[in-house]
Amino acid sequence: MKITFICHSSFCAELEKNVLIFDYYGDGEIPEISKDHQVYFLNSHAHPDHFKKEIFGLREKYPGAEYLLSRDIRLRPEEQREWIHRVKAREEYRIKDLCIQTLRSTDQGVAWVVEAEGKRIYHAGDLNWWHWEGEDKAWNNNMAANYKKEVDRLAEHFFDAAFVPLDPRLSGAYYWGMKYFLEQTDTAHIFPMHFWGDYEVCRRVKAQKEMQGLLEHYHTIEHQGQEWVLC
Ligand SMILES: [Zn+2]
Repeated sequence: MKITFICHSSFCAELEKNVLIFDYYGDGEIPEISKDHQVYFLNSHAHPDHFKKEIFGLREKYPGAEYLLSRDIRLRPEEQREWIHRVKAREEYRIKDLCIQTLRSTDQGVAWVVEAEGKRIYHAGDLNWWHWEGEDKAWNNNMAANYKKEVDRLAEHFFDAAFVPLDPRLSGAYYWGMKYFLEQTDTAHIFPMHFWGDYEVCRRVKAQKEMQGLLEHYHTIEHQGQEWVLC
């Protein structure tokens, strides 16, 4: 499986026959994809750093592409097409070669568990432990409980690759969501995302003492277009 970091929370995961493009919104370049691959765009919610309608125009470049969109992404009736699949949280879907399980985001929309060609991939969307300094205590406690409840649904699940937020805006809590995810799951390769171009935070987490022992298979991101071939 080949992984490419496109931008922000957008990654491309290329399998033998299928290519998954997560949370693409038009920024950063999609890597070259051979014509015989089936392309899927998966967009976790409507926020402009996770989705823009311009991506529908890419179907000319990738004929036969399927679009899996969280239901909070609004479409006018005339924009609805048979290749657009609307999904909601905590459901299961089968779309061509993909088996999909959705989780409920702690912000908006869904997180994804995708199984294809024997691989299991997790993409968080905005499902994260959003602990904000300055928020009131009850709000932050509620957030912690909701995040844990959702990730606990994945307890002891194996993932070949997982994409999880590491958001520097959360100050000292920036790594909490990733830490909890890694403690609960059996993840072979973990990638940070949603770090707003702050590549320093991707390096900093490796020195974070609370993360010691959890980042054996962590991939530091250094630039857009970076690629990894996972076996
Ligand atoms: Zn976001």
